Amino acid sequence: MIVKTRIAPSPTGSAHVGTARGAIWNYLYAKKHGGVFALRIEDTDRDRYFPAAIEEFKKDLTWIGVEWDELVPSQYALRKRHLEVANQLLEKGAAYKCFSTKEEIDAAREKAESKSFKFQSPWRDADPSTYPMDKPFAIRLKTPQEGVIKIQDIIRGDVEIPAKDLEDLVIIRSDGESPIYNLTVVVDDHDMEITHVARGEEHLINTFKQKLIYDAMGWDVPQFAHLPLILAPAGQSGKLSKRHGAVTIDYYKEKGFLPEALFNYLLRLGWGHGNDEIISKEQAIEWFDFKDVSKAGMRFDLDKALSLNAHYIREKDDQALTDLAAPFFEKKIERMLTESEKKTLLAMMPELKTRVKTLVEMADLGAFLFVTLPLDEKAQKILEKPIPITDSEDKISPQESINLLIQHFSDFFVKPTNSDRPYLKWESDALTSSFMHIAEEMNVKIGKLLQPVRAKICFSTITPPLSESMEALGMEECIKRLKA
Ligand code: GLU
Repeated sequence: MIVKTRIAPSPTGSAHVGTARGAIWNYLYAKKHGGVFALRIEDTDRDRYFPAAIEEFKKDLTWIGVEWDELVPSQYALRKRHLEVANQLLEKGAAYKCFSTKEEIDAAREKAESKSFKFQSPWRDADPSTYPMDKPFAIRLKTPQEGVIKIQDIIRGDVEIPAKDLEDLVIIRSDGESPIYNLTVVVDDHDMEITHVARGEEHLINTFKQKLIYDAMGWDVPQFAHLPLILAPAGQSGKLSKRHGAVTIDYYKEKGFLPEALFNYLLRLGWGHGNDEIISKEQAIEWFDFKDVSKAGMRFDLDKALSLNAHYIREKDDQALTDLAAPFFEKKIERMLTESEKKTLLAMMPELKTRVKTLVEMADLGAFLFVTLPLDEKAQKILEKPIPITDSEDKISPQESINLLIQHFSDFFVKPTNSDRPYLKWESDALTSSFMHIAEEMNVKIGKLLQPVRAKICFSTITPPLSESMEALGMEECIKRLKA
């Protein structure tokens, strides 16, 4: 038997993290067993059909590192086959035509419920000779009147419900041509030879209905796994939902998550391998199994996702990271980076990547390398604070100390035009030595000397190391900023 899993979204836009997690797990399970992972676009509900949303969903899945081996681009295109199976169910007597109007059904259901009965269509056992001629009809599946409906779930074991809890479900709407989800999904899973149907816990009730269709058709029932809910972050109740913000993949793309970080985070949201926090895709393929997935819902924790992202950013190769980060810088500075600026970014990458949790944070931290920015509040304050001279009551103003520094730079770093006097290269080591030298000469603490320099060069007090930043900016730009 070839293991075959699938993800079957009805895309309405960027993939939900729950769907992405389901895709990751299904993908891993198929790969673990050398099987096939399929993507089936469930676009049967035409009111919610947005071609652009389907493309966005596919991009999200690819971005996060989940590749499908087989694609069913449109479930809607298979509707003839769905109708054919509905007719076979009619012929077998497992389904029947229901001519009741919506109003009749609503009234009958209300009446039944008031007496704690299950609603049943009056057409369930009607003699076909009594069928009206020109009235539209829905097709309903006959659910058993008594006993239990039982399914086996890899995560939850045997689960059953009393048959009387289920109404005779509609499988074709009364327009005569629109099949309903519970039918289409069974027909497609059967035709695609899906061996494992693993989907969100909210589908458990559907699975009982679907089981009836498998049984009525005499088809093999796939193995089921109902995946735990993703719950709202700590301190909030209910499921993770739109109001919690970070629920679709586009959020993470925009914030500058690395796909492997989100993959790792979602992978472990309800599944784990000992205490391993960092798990690569390859390792996950080896280790993952639906039977180790938790039954209980898992709380979403953005901080955890962020700290994983920080890890993956730190570990990533500098050149690859520069390519990924460039668009975030371009957005921040509102223009494209030149080739030479990209080289500057690459040179600063070792300093930037250890200090941020996202690429948006990186662009905030490193934007000063490419544009001048308004000084932040703390930097502004520093420029107003005189620097104390050690062992003295005297102080020196920040700009005065900066002027001395500028003088030092022109004495030692600028290439002399008409002499052979040696000069220093504008490199971080030489700059660091200069700072120490000047601090000593001025008799001020080095930290105090550098604070206003940092403020003028980087426009902030939180920056990458100053000497490296100044090397990256180049002498001319640094002197310009120091004079400004
Ligand atoms: N289209 C359904 C959904 O997005 C699929 C559920 C299933 O996997 O069967 O919820």
